[in-house]
Amino acid sequence: MSASVRQQALITANSRSVRVIGRPLGPDGRTLTVTETYGKNTFGLATMADKLPKPTFKRVKAVIEDGARLERADADAIAHAVKEWALEHGCTHFTHWFQPMTGSTAEKHDAFLSTDMDNEGIERFSGDALLQSEPDASSFPSGGMRATFEARGYTAWDPGSPIFIMENPNGNTLCIPSAFVSYTGEALDKKTPLLRSMQAVDAASRTLLEALGQEPTRTVATLGCEQEYFLIDRAYWAARPDLAINGRTVIGAAPPKGQSLDDHYFGAITPRVQAFMQEVEQELYKLGVPAKTRHNEVAPSQFELAPIFAAANVGSDHNQIIMETLRRVALRHDYKVALAEKPFAGLNGSGKHANWSLSTNGENLLEPGANPSENLRFLAVLSSVLIGVFRYNGLLRASVASYGNDFRLGANEAPPAIMSVFLGDLLSSICDAIASDADLPTNPEQAMIELGVSSIPFVAKDSTDRNRTSPVAFTGNKFEFRAVGSQQNPAWPVTVLNTIVAEGMNQLTTWIAEAGGGKDAVFAAIKKAIQESNAIRFEGDGYADAWVTEAEGRGLTNHKKTPDALDELKDDRIVSLFGKHNVLTPAEVTSRYNVHVEQYISAIEIESDCYKMLVDEMILPAALEARTATAGAFMAAKELEELGVSIDTSADEARLMALAGGIASVQSARVALDEALSHIHDGTGHKGKETILPIFDALRAGIDGLEGLVDDELWPLPKYREMLFLV
Ligand code: ADP
Ligand code: MG
Repeated sequence: MSASVRQQALITANSRSVRVIGRPLGPDGRTLTVTETYGKNTFGLATMADKLPKPTFKRVKAVIEDGARLERADADAIAHAVKEWALEHGCTHFTHWFQPMTGSTAEKHDAFLSTDMDNEGIERFSGDALLQSEPDASSFPSGGMRATFEARGYTAWDPGSPIFIMENPNGNTLCIPSAFVSYTGEALDKKTPLLRSMQAVDAASRTLLEALGQEPTRTVATLGCEQEYFLIDRAYWAARPDLAINGRTVIGAAPPKGQSLDDHYFGAITPRVQAFMQEVEQELYKLGVPAKTRHNEVAPSQFELAPIFAAANVGSDHNQIIMETLRRVALRHDYKVALAEKPFAGLNGSGKHANWSLSTNGENLLEPGANPSENLRFLAVLSSVLIGVFRYNGLLRASVASYGNDFRLGANEAPPAIMSVFLGDLLSSICDAIASDADLPTNPEQAMIELGVSSIPFVAKDSTDRNRTSPVAFTGNKFEFRAVGSQQNPAWPVTVLNTIVAEGMNQLTTWIAEAGGGKDAVFAAIKKAIQESNAIRFEGDGYADAWVTEAEGRGLTNHKKTPDALDELKDDRIVSLFGKHNVLTPAEVTSRYNVHVEQYISAIEIESDCYKMLVDEMILPAALEARTATAGAFMAAKELEELGVSIDTSADEARLMALAGGIASVQSARVALDEALSHIHDGTGHKGKETILPIFDALRAGIDGLEGLVDDELWPLPKYREMLFLV
């Protein structure tokens, strides 16, 4: 890589044309509407109704909608229908599509092709193959579980999430969303605990509904993830080894304009970017992913896509499909998509806002109702969330812990690492009044009327002003968990959210029973919950320094870095919480802890390699060349001075000294890095955090200083100012 590569990248990136994709056309040449192509590549309910025998269809529908168990006998019928449909759609292979603990998705393709005794080819797909498959599990992280359990693992179909087709110009693949477990049933993935946590919150919700005197119907956790991302021209990406290896830059001086003008947020979308977004949406529609919103985000070249929410397991799969589609389609437009949490220092990072709620019988449990008795339920569910987040705020922070997300949380652009709940003025004042008992009638219905709770539906929506600094914000009829990292699989944070809310609900149910049941007991339980969880509610500025001090006084956790947060998973209280709700066994919690620690340490190692390469092969050579040239200029000026020419050499000298100083600081940090790296495998990540991160900071400060000193023509890497302002 040399300065000429950078020049070439600049020219290439600035001479792109807009890719024209057009809208999908029908056989008659007519432009199809979105609904005509929507879900075309999914084996959804409509397709099933069409392809399956009626009784089978009815049972499968019950599996999907009510969480019933799939009869083994139905699997063959479904497999047959799926195969026919897949072959009609040009599929040659099928795969169980699963989510190992790496955080990304995994697939191993098998052909439908089978042969008989005469070696005649025949397409075959059995119920067994649909239900279960056995990828070689040994290369996926198990966090040490393999020491105690068999190395083998198998993937099992999650019938709640629709089967879909991944298109490829050279043949399509049938993807079967699956869970991934060991032979002894231990979870090796992110999906299994999510499904278990959905069961936990369903069970807890049913008992709470019963305690509220309501029909204990099935409760489904719902999820809609807003996805933020950056788009960078491929030419720049290729010329930046840090982006190519890490997906984020580790060096780069802030651009002169940055995001200070705030002119990108919701700004006009350029034609090239819009073409990309439209193609992404068309692909998503075919896959039954309801992409709804697109807009520019705060930082230059940063954007967001939000789908309509779905059941949490489906919403989580949708998010994986969205990330994959963004990556895949970006290349067609000569972009690379940066999904890392903090691809560019000094600019906003990217998150994933996990919008979460609970739904029963089609009713949103967090939707304030039209009368006091509906709102008693609303308040009971709301206070269950408060209790859960209050008691397990450290765990919630741990659920979003990753090397990349640490750069974002608490960096005055994303929620702090302190978890708190924002409710908005109205709900807050209601909670305050309930907690303080301010002259309320003892009859809950009367109390609620006096509190104004009967009118929340009309006020709450408008009064949920956007406190963007809150990690867990109530936004009218759902909670928005904003601390999730942009490249993170949302399944794990949602697993934690479901589990802690299940715990909160159980607590309320217990209190209601202890108080003898009935409305008064419910109201008393709500009051108790609000009182206990008072410290978790915070309406103020989460970015302010004062909040850090205040939160500490309130006893809330503030795990600034991943290793501190992950320590939560070693706490007996946390281990027993997961065990109690059948979400994770103690061994599974430990394995997750180990995997996350390993990932943290690996991220540090990869970034170290990246720094070494940049420093040794690119930065120092350029800086030394600049130093030599500057020294030459300085010496020439000195000679002139000695010859009696009146010339001021102080500026030349200062520039030379600055360059020399920058080089020296980079060189010494580079030496320290090698030294420190040998000690970072400590099994907790703390060592890496303590010893390596300060070296990274020193390296970056030195290099970014040099970027401003070395002649622009010599600088080998595309600069922020070049990469971030897309044409
Ligand atoms: P807002 O603009 O107020 O944030 P939107 O309606 O645009 O609200 O929702 C943002 C995201 O929240 C979308 O992905 C949306 O589908 C999702 N969402 C809305 N309602 C729910 C719900 N009940 N459960 C989960 N997600 C939801
Ligand atoms: Mg939002």
